Amino acid sequence: MAMSTVDSNVIDLIKMAGDRDMTERKQAKKALPRLNQRLKTLQDINRAILKAESSQEIAHAALSRMSRLIPYQEAAVVLYNFETGEALVLAGTIDNQPAGTTVSMNDILSTEVLRQQEQICYVKDIAALEYRTILLERQLSQGLHSFLAISSLIEENLMSELYLFAPQLAAFNLEHQAIAREVANQLAVAIQQAQLWEQLQRYAAELEQRVTQRTAALVEANQELEVFTHTVSHDLQAPLRTIQGFTELLLKKYNDRIDANGQNYIQTILNSVQKLNTLISDLLDYSQMSRVTVNLREVELSTVINTALALLDFDLQARNAIVRVTPPLPKVTAHFAMLMQAIANLISNAIKYVAPNVQPEVHIYAQTTQERVRLWIEDNGIGIHPRNQERIFRPFERLGLSKIYPGTGMGLAIVRRAVERCEGSVGVISTIGEGSRFWIELPQSEHNQGL
Ligand code: ADP
Repeated sequence: MAMSTVDSNVIDLIKMAGDRDMTERKQAKKALPRLNQRLKTLQDINRAILKAESSQEIAHAALSRMSRLIPYQEAAVVLYNFETGEALVLAGTIDNQPAGTTVSMNDILSTEVLRQQEQICYVKDIAALEYRTILLERQLSQGLHSFLAISSLIEENLMSELYLFAPQLAAFNLEHQAIAREVANQLAVAIQQAQLWEQLQRYAAELEQRVTQRTAALVEANQELEVFTHTVSHDLQAPLRTIQGFTELLLKKYNDRIDANGQNYIQTILNSVQKLNTLISDLLDYSQMSRVTVNLREVELSTVINTALALLDFDLQARNAIVRVTPPLPKVTAHFAMLMQAIANLISNAIKYVAPNVQPEVHIYAQTTQERVRLWIEDNGIGIHPRNQERIFRPFERLGLSKIYPGTGMGLAIVRRAVERCEGSVGVISTIGEGSRFWIELPQSEHNQGL
């Protein structure tokens, strides 16, 4: 049967469609390796960006790989800071400015840059532009005709811009533009994160520097104060000795010529001199604690305690105190004289801060953990309210009973400083009316360990 015209037209149409299909398929087949290469390079850029740490490294990682996909001759990534008016070349070169250079924004800004995200500007031929900025004029004079710029807003005042220049006319097709846009996007996100990280590091470094400076200033001020305290206390001792000496002489030599009232006055002077003497010697002890070089050695706790008790023998007898020392008392690492002074001060307080008519009772014993030894000094005294238990260790802190219990308020400050210089710590557990349990914790001597 002969074929009708309609039929042959349909066949023609089918053939044509088939041909078009073939062409598209051929084109797609041809484009496939290119697309593959694009994907691979973009992934590679992504990986490199992730590995990079600074904004400059990130920009460099992207630019160096982008040349595989886009035919440019000159490229740069520039970071604009609208707040400072500065432009930092992160990677590549622009207008002879290499990476790392900071210039005024006006020197580089090539287009009327809008502060909008992903602003794209493509010029097929710079020579055809009616108006050219100084930068574009210079690029043209170097034989560059095509120009592509993509800007991305990073923060309110921060914008990155990717610049590409090529000598050919209309060098960047739609695909190049899409790639450039994609890379610029990745860059902006990575740069934003790097900026935040860099900012955080700057803050941290600044903070550290400030802390170091303040600590140094504090240490210096402290040292000056120590020297001052030491000098003043020391210099006060001599005139005080003179006052004491001559007052005693007055009392001795002119005794018969001074009436009872006068003798009372003189006794008051002597009492005050005595108090001042104690205060000065406490202050000197306190400042001495931080001045001497401390060599920590193995020390027998029992020997230190016995020496302290011998020192306090007069007071202990005067107050009819009972002191019970319970072994075992291990060896510790400490400075003998300092530790002895600290223990003596604690025992002295333990027998002093007792209610009238109560016989002082002190119990001394040690607890050993793996590396530390805790020495307890317990009394049956008046006790300390929990709110005051921290402040009594500061210099001159006394708890409002100064009339009944004389003192300078330096005893526990000396204890704390002495113990801290022995690399230990000190504290108290107490309830009003139920006595106090002071403790000193020190490093255990290696020779005890494992016993
Ligand atoms: P001082 O004994 O010269 O006043 P300290 O620094 O030794 O100075 O003591 C500070 C204050 O802590 C004392 O004034 C006292 O109120 C209180 N305190 C110290 N030890 C005891 C204790 N064992 N029992 C009760 N209160 C104490």
